Amino acid sequence: MKAKRPINYKSLRRKYPDIVTYRAVSEKLRRRRRAKSTKTATGEDRGEAMTTYTEQEEIENLSFKTPHCFILGAGASLAAFPDGDKNGRKLPVVANFCEVLGIDHYFEEAGIPPPYDDFEAIYSTISSKPVLSHLVTALEQEIFDYFAALELPDYPTLYDHLILSLREKDVIATFNWDPFLVQAAQRNARKTKVPKLYYLHGCVAIAHCEACKLKVPSQPRCPRCEGPLQRSQILYPVTQKDYVTDPLIKNEWDATQWHLKHGYILTIFGYGAPSSDVEAVRLLKEGWGNPEDRSLEEVEIIDVLERAELEKRWEPFIHTHHSRTTKRFYESLAGRHPRRSCEVLWQTLMYLRPSEGIDFPSEATFPDLYEYLEPRLFAELRQSES
Ligand SMILES: [Zn+2]
Repeated sequence: MKAKRPINYKSLRRKYPDIVTYRAVSEKLRRRRRAKSTKTATGEDRGEAMTTYTEQEEIENLSFKTPHCFILGAGASLAAFPDGDKNGRKLPVVANFCEVLGIDHYFEEAGIPPPYDDFEAIYSTISSKPVLSHLVTALEQEIFDYFAALELPDYPTLYDHLILSLREKDVIATFNWDPFLVQAAQRNARKTKVPKLYYLHGCVAIAHCEACKLKVPSQPRCPRCEGPLQRSQILYPVTQKDYVTDPLIKNEWDATQWHLKHGYILTIFGYGAPSSDVEAVRLLKEGWGNPEDRSLEEVEIIDVLERAELEKRWEPFIHTHHSRTTKRFYESLAGRHPRRSCEVLWQTLMYLRPSEGIDFPSEATFPDLYEYLEPRLFAELRQSES
């Protein structure tokens, strides 16, 4: 068994200035536990030990600079758009990918017999045969066009709620090709500053200018130099994905890893860590680092699967008991504590002052949603001006 590494308070204090009180809190807890060790703690006893962190305190406290990092997988887009996009276009899953996109005829032409229920395996087969390269090019274009045509509904969606639940310091890194996150960020950027977005497998709604090193939502020309833009490469499901050759994809990974390293909360939303993408999980792990060094940080998983299975899957990321799972975004840290997730978690774990948070107004219209979040947005504006 590995020896337990001592806590490096010096480096922790650099990252969390508030940690100066951590030892004091630990000591206080130890004393409280000793005092209670002779009797069984009742609900009342526990109630005495804790004070609630009020909603007003939650609104006013903006002490964190470290990010809350979200990783999105296909499950997040599916949860957000179970009935498809604005025009009823369905989002495929691996099992019905070929059927939903209507691309079976490519495989018939390639001489591959049905069933076509494993797009990853079929794509790997045909893309490895140089003689079929013309088919692969046409197939990739059709897939790109299908996703590029997807549109957000006019009303607020889960992706709008996600964008609005995080601050500019926070990060969303997505494995999804669809344009929903880009569109949600664009329309909410009129109201407030949005989190940083990274596209780990590329995105149909993103383009970049090599000369300016600029990444922008797809548009005809570079807004800075007016030169031509290159559309984002899409990483198709081959077993060995290349995360380093394309400059945009490499930049997305480098930035994600940096933020993971410096993040306080890591939330994995609807990402199944497929066995066909071992390299992606390795890179995420490399960014997050050794769980032994993440003794203060928290891993949160939003997924429809059961807790035991999820904890087993993400065990290499989790420091002892520092994890939580939920099936719905609205029950997650960001959903219950929009724009304040890091501060609330810190108050809960370090000062034993939990906050109930809010019932996210998931059915509200845009004006009502913005009005609901106004006290939080106003507190941020006031802080930025002071
Ligand atoms: Zn440019």
